[in-house]
Amino acid sequence: MRLVLLGPPGAGKGTQAGLLATKFGVPHVSTGDLFRTHVAEETPLGLEVREYLSGGELVPSELTVALVAERLGTADAARGFVLDGFPRSVVQADALATILTGLGKRLDRVLEFRIDDEIVVRRLLARGRTDDTESVIRHRLRVHHEQTESLLAYYAGHTAVIDALGEVEDVARRVLDSLGE
Ligand code: AMP
Repeated sequence: MRLVLLGPPGAGKGTQAGLLATKFGVPHVSTGDLFRTHVAEETPLGLEVREYLSGGELVPSELTVALVAERLGTADAARGFVLDGFPRSVVQADALATILTGLGKRLDRVLEFRIDDEIVVRRLLARGRTDDTESVIRHRLRVHHEQTESLLAYYAGHTAVIDALGEVEDVARRVLDSLGE
């Protein structure tokens, strides 16, 4: 199963991606998690990207695409993956298509999580990650709306819309229904 999850920060993509990864026995690939690990370990990439993360800015696509290409090329991703947080722009979506063509694979499904911005702000403030201050959250939402919404047009026709409001189990059921599981 090869899935892409789209939607604003705080829509619950990470949680649902984890559940889907377990169900299908494929890795959950979160670019945010990969970057945060690099930052925590102070790798050269981590030092390069930490200001983007703390400011809620997108990391330049060359760095992001290289990270994803490497991750999707590893053996455990051969049977599939759940991509969470990537692609975030049409440039990245084109790059993903190129990576998949190179691997001889195709996406099965794109899921778009929809949720109101004000609910996201409340959820993320409650989560309390270091990049979860209100002004950074609002900035991340603006970046999402500006740069990511063209992705919906890019994937139009291949996308299932998921109402992301509600309890984890309820959203999980909607996700599985949309996948015909
Ligand atoms: P996330 O955990 O998906 O909310 O991502 C946290 C942060 O990591 C974002 O605010 C960006 O700084 C960076 N990031 C994650 N994924 C991407 C991506 N696909 N392109 C650029 N930056 C990203």
